[in-house]
Amino acid sequence: MNTATLSPEAPAGAKDIPSLDRLLRSPEFAPLLQAYGHTQVGQLMRACLQDLREAALQGKLDRRALDAPALARALQARLAARNESRLRPVYNLTGTVLHTNLGRALLPDQAVQAVVRALTSPANLEFDLETGGRGDRDDLIEPLLCELTGAEAATVVNNNAAAVLLMLNTLSDRRESVVSRGELVEIGGAFRIPDIMKRAGARLVEIGTTNRTHAADYENAIGPRTAMLMKVHCSNYAVKGFTKSVDVGQVADIAHARGLPASVDLGSGTLVDLAQWGLPPEPTVRETIQAGADIVTFSGDKLLGGPQAGLIVGRAELIRKIKKNPLKRALRVGKLTLAALEPVLALYRAPELLPERLTTLRLFTRPSSAMKEQAARLAPVLQSWAGADFAVEPAALFSQIGSGALPEDVLPSCGLRIRHAGPGRPGRHLTRLETRLRELPRPVIGRIADDALWLDLRCLEESQEPDFTAQLTAEQST
Ligand SMILES: *Cc1c(COP(=O)(O)O)cnc(C)c1O
Repeated sequence: MNTATLSPEAPAGAKDIPSLDRLLRSPEFAPLLQAYGHTQVGQLMRACLQDLREAALQGKLDRRALDAPALARALQARLAARNESRLRPVYNLTGTVLHTNLGRALLPDQAVQAVVRALTSPANLEFDLETGGRGDRDDLIEPLLCELTGAEAATVVNNNAAAVLLMLNTLSDRRESVVSRGELVEIGGAFRIPDIMKRAGARLVEIGTTNRTHAADYENAIGPRTAMLMKVHCSNYAVKGFTKSVDVGQVADIAHARGLPASVDLGSGTLVDLAQWGLPPEPTVRETIQAGADIVTFSGDKLLGGPQAGLIVGRAELIRKIKKNPLKRALRVGKLTLAALEPVLALYRAPELLPERLTTLRLFTRPSSAMKEQAARLAPVLQSWAGADFAVEPAALFSQIGSGALPEDVLPSCGLRIRHAGPGRPGRHLTRLETRLRELPRPVIGRIADDALWLDLRCLEESQEPDFTAQLTAEQST
């Protein structure tokens, strides 16, 4: 602890240091004991007294650092820093709405309330309120998922990676799954279709080429060991140019003609047609089921806008097998996930209200005029925070949906471009500024590109603007 500083006059000696006991009984320490408890206050204070003793031995102990109020103040700062949560809210100004490293989807208020209720009171998680007998946690959301997707049955696991693993292990253990080479995707964070297949015990049969796969490739790959034909959404890339792929309907027809199931990993998976809000179209889960897919897997926290989860919907007989797999128990979701998921799914019953109520969709559909006005308001605030070495100006830019959803499609947005105004190469200065933004009480995360630091305002809703501005102006006045 930095309480020992060189005193010009008489440095204090070890005998001047108050005892731990006396300090803990002093009135200055009472609020600390009240807030943080005896154990950690004692621990930290003991370490602190040890530092003081060492300073005394070196003749560097300042007498003024030894009174109880000064020691209590120093300890208070240390305790507060130590007890600050490591998981902190930040401002996501990266321009990527569903940012995996920043926690993906933000949940609507209904979900937050439901999680609080589930956390603070017992609930019928696996309890049938009609019979009083044991229930199944899937029953809480299965009817809703079936209603929204047209599937016969549904189940939920920890995330979509788990959904794919469980689906493959149940339906293709030691048997072959046929996938086009154009769809052997790697999602960030080490999720690769060939690897997950291996771990699931499924044998991957690759067909076609990177750019072209034909119906005959699927037909020719089917043999006695084939368990299913599988399609995977090219979430984070696009195959362009001289290309050919076989659509879900056709793959399903080929599979069904040979008595096999067709599965589709949709990745993001949406429950509504996003084109109605001017967003790029994505196949919905319902369309995929209607086209003939027997099993569809998708994420809870991508386009769906809910909590981290992996949703598996499809034919009742296959879902029943999946639920009976012992791995299901290892991959199951907790009550917080189910509590959050149900109200999010329920919002989809009123699709016309979604852009207002579903947080992610509200961010996707925020008009660029709103961001433009915001940029004009915030440019001077950031300019005086950044200082004269930088030039801050509003700039048109493009946000991304993120999380491997619609990689090519960008949403017109607006934000701030910050450039280094002085001489020399801008890189180091911009990195310094980026660090300063991360050091704010609520860190601001932007991105550096093309010799500028960019702050996309899409994810800074008007309601958050006063707090955002306040922490920038507060830093200047200190
Ligand atoms: C994102 C994605 C996954 C993994 O989903 P998580 O919910 O992140 O586990 C799997 N497959 C595809 C095609 C994806 O886009």
